[in-house]
Amino acid sequence: MTMNTSSSQLDNLFDPSLVAAQQPNWPGGHDGEQMKKAVADLRALPPLVFAGECDDLKAKIAEAAAGRAFWLQGGDCAETFNSATADSIRNRIKTILQMAAVLQYYSSLPVIKVGRMAGQFAKPRSNDLETRGDVTLPAYRGDAVNDIEFTEAARTPDPNRLVRVYNTSAATLNLVRAFTRGGFADLRQVHEWNKGFIRDSKFGDKYEQMANEIGRALSFMQSAGVDPEQFKAVDFYASHEALIIEYEKALTRIDSRTQLPYDVSGHFIWIGERTRQLDGAHVDFASKVRNPIGIKLGPKSTVEDALALIAKLNPDNEPGRITFITRMGAGTIRQALPALVEGVTKSGAQVLWVCDPMHGNTFESKNGYKTRNFEDVLDEVRGFFEVHKKLGTHPGGIHIELTGDDVTECLGGGNEVSEKDLESRYETACDPRLNHSQSLELSFLVAEMLRDR
Ligand code: PEP
Ligand code: MN
Repeated sequence: MTMNTSSSQLDNLFDPSLVAAQQPNWPGGHDGEQMKKAVADLRALPPLVFAGECDDLKAKIAEAAAGRAFWLQGGDCAETFNSATADSIRNRIKTILQMAAVLQYYSSLPVIKVGRMAGQFAKPRSNDLETRGDVTLPAYRGDAVNDIEFTEAARTPDPNRLVRVYNTSAATLNLVRAFTRGGFADLRQVHEWNKGFIRDSKFGDKYEQMANEIGRALSFMQSAGVDPEQFKAVDFYASHEALIIEYEKALTRIDSRTQLPYDVSGHFIWIGERTRQLDGAHVDFASKVRNPIGIKLGPKSTVEDALALIAKLNPDNEPGRITFITRMGAGTIRQALPALVEGVTKSGAQVLWVCDPMHGNTFESKNGYKTRNFEDVLDEVRGFFEVHKKLGTHPGGIHIELTGDDVTECLGGGNEVSEKDLESRYETACDPRLNHSQSLELSFLVAEMLRDR
């Protein structure tokens, strides 16, 4: 497949008069010389993902929306250039594969595996500026924009970083493809890792019986001589928030097969809670590309908001096109979600409902860390399942901020991370992530909900 970059179709695709929320104050503005150069460089580069892969993912999302698959999306709140190492990437993939194996066994559904990875480098912020003592500087907006170090030079937005986002995403995807195609992802190997987790963690015996069941199923198949290709390689998709509008536009290509535009910076892109204005540039952008699109919905979202977004982004009701990622907060989801799901279902729109139990449950610990409680995360997922069960709709998936490393950023879980522990390995560049063992524990607990749904 070839992709056309210079098509005049692209020049008039997006409405340049619309306002994009949450953009950095680029030096020279969004059409300054540096930005023009970065955009020209990006436009000349090959696609990171292929339109056909985006279509395959869309078809899988349609299956999940119909209740025949489950969605697992996970990764850093903010990827950084420094953390794009082989070890860190491998540990994240491994964690997602381990979670997926558990979820798949208990749901008896195919699990769609999606990384918040290979492109998740830009962040919306509640304040443009950050003040420390008597110094005020631009807030850190992700490695796509500036550096986290608190100096004027580091915090000045730099469009050249967008080209580095592309290169780092390409390197990450290269490793993702190698890991998921080259035998590393074999289901039997994944099961061995899960057994290791249970053996090594002091609370693992709670999940031993579940893991043993999976082990017996695998042995049974092996004894029957079943050795399908599907055990050895998995489809793994890349996703990120489509936030920096110049970057996403510069990586939009016309697919030569269908003659339709795709954002080739990632398979699945989502629009955040802070940038989903109906008349804003992000929604206009997403409405013009053919990728599957996610939209975050916070606790104040109304049925009218949801229906208007559907009308704009999916007027033809194309299956798999829209995923609503709700992030309500554990204390709110049981009140706020039912009306939304009911209203959308009644409209006849087919969407995938995914629970982000992270962003509604963030608070600051007494010792000054932005954190989340494992119990709140779990409780929001529980609420999500309860609501869908009551309404007879499908709890289609989860969206988790996680890492494969043993960080201490979220409280609780079987290892009982305490407020005091937060200071020992608090490494995130933005929001707190579940660590490897909290992530696996969550997957066992969600697997139980899936079994009982
Ligand atoms: C995020 O996913 O990191 C994020 C910023 O989420 P939201 O748009 O839901 O606040
Ligand atoms: Mn986040």
